[in-house]
Amino acid sequence: MSNKGALALLAQYGGDSSDDEVPGSRVSTKRMHKDDEDDPRSKRLERLPPPNFTISNPEEVIDDPSSHEGRIRSFPHERGNWATYVYIPYECNEGLEKLLSMINSSATSQNLHLKCFDDFHISLTKTVILKHHWIDSFIDTLKENISYFNRFMVMFDCLEIYCNEEKTRTFIGLQIKTGYDSLLKLVQCLDNCLGEFKLPKFYENPSFHVSIAWCVGDHQEQLKSLLSDLNRELEVLMGEYSQENWYIYVEQIMCRTGNKLFEFHLR
Ligand code: AMP
Repeated sequence: MSNKGALALLAQYGGDSSDDEVPGSRVSTKRMHKDDEDDPRSKRLERLPPPNFTISNPEEVIDDPSSHEGRIRSFPHERGNWATYVYIPYECNEGLEKLLSMINSSATSQNLHLKCFDDFHISLTKTVILKHHWIDSFIDTLKENISYFNRFMVMFDCLEIYCNEEKTRTFIGLQIKTGYDSLLKLVQCLDNCLGEFKLPKFYENPSFHVSIAWCVGDHQEQLKSLLSDLNRELEVLMGEYSQENWYIYVEQIMCRTGNKLFEFHLR
């Protein structure tokens, strides 16, 4: 799709806004009483445990790295703690598939064996730990705050290398520069929501991206040495595959908490 086509698509969308739960996950929308002793927003309460408990995969419960492709858990699994993160979903397409196979063969030639993701997203929060009894209230807060945002467009600009905070995994991501300001506004809003629950905020200087491949360990140097070649090849692919392969029209935001999934539609 041409730039003009993408903009025309933008103009087609109207302003219907509704927030839905994904079927199968039932959570009441009843707001907790502000004075509830357990409400994390109550000033009378002490801060939550230290915030640096972000994790790589919210669903890991077994600590044997061989059972989850070598990933190392960053915090112990604890009953009542729900790994929670907010993101924009992204569907794989032909251009991305081609890009992934191109990246894989370049990495293999350097003896690096990458794993590809099978679902894709743009993170808008770190993975934080939410107490089970705060889920309803947290989801209500997200719903209320996200409902003011309009739909917008983001575009992939280049490939970039990322490493998690624990330096246990390295990622290749499609970095987003076009649409950065809209993403930043969303993150600022989500940071405020997280703040109400004394949960850690997103990165101070966010680098928005969709991670597309990863490997165990800190291989930033090795992968960065491939980056200029990979980006040249990406440019070629961007010419070969239509523009709709390289942008996301952001219409909804998702929140996963444990095994529950919530969807918030933008205006
Ligand atoms: P994600 O695919 O969103 O989980 O991101 C992959 C990794 O990128 C995460 O483990 C983050 O810790 C890492 N990362 C490093 N620096 C940044 C940054 N400035 N903005 C966003 N993510 C970052």
